[in-house]
Amino acid sequence: MAGRIQIIRGDITKQKVDAIVNAANCSLLGGGGVDGAIHRAAGPELLAECRGLNGCETGKAKITKGYKLPAKYVIHTPGPVWHGGSRGEAELLRSCYRSCLELAAEYGCKTVDFPSISTGVYHFPLEKASVIAIDAIAAFLAEHKEIQRVRMVCFDERTAGFYETALAGCGVET
Ligand code: ADP
Repeated sequence: MAGRIQIIRGDITKQKVDAIVNAANCSLLGGGGVDGAIHRAAGPELLAECRGLNGCETGKAKITKGYKLPAKYVIHTPGPVWHGGSRGEAELLRSCYRSCLELAAEYGCKTVDFPSISTGVYHFPLEKASVIAIDAIAAFLAEHKEIQRVRMVCFDERTAGFYETALAGCGVET
């Protein structure tokens, strides 16, 4: 039986879940990568709602509706930019996952999909990021049985491979 944490390859904008997470920037006004893809698929109403949110700090999260997306909600979180590891990047990345799951639980979401936060243009090393992500998700799920399933939706095979390895190595029964 599959556990509550799963790794899939795919496009996060296509997932019909309660909430998808957007690897945003602090302006919350859109950008490239997964952020751009989510805004394109959700339509202009998403940007209109984001304009009213006054941005978001790195490691925190804010929630909006999903508009034209199959997902009901989008949870926006600015991940840390990698500067070599001495500027609190690991704790900030952990905080992204935890903040998103706290909001998801508060809004009654049972299924949540994450992209690989910070490992694109923000250059967080994938191996480190994958271990932090799986560890943060597993810790949260252990305390929150109401969330049924959390998936990492990886755009490419290499990314998926790192998250598979992290999940296999995390030693937590989810
Ligand atoms: P960041 O600025 O946080 O590094 P990016 O958007 O540059 O965010 O990249 C984060 C990850 O999201 C990368 O692994 C990238 O390949 C992936 N990605 C890009 N588009 C999509 C998408 N439509 N669905 C899922 N993942 C995506």
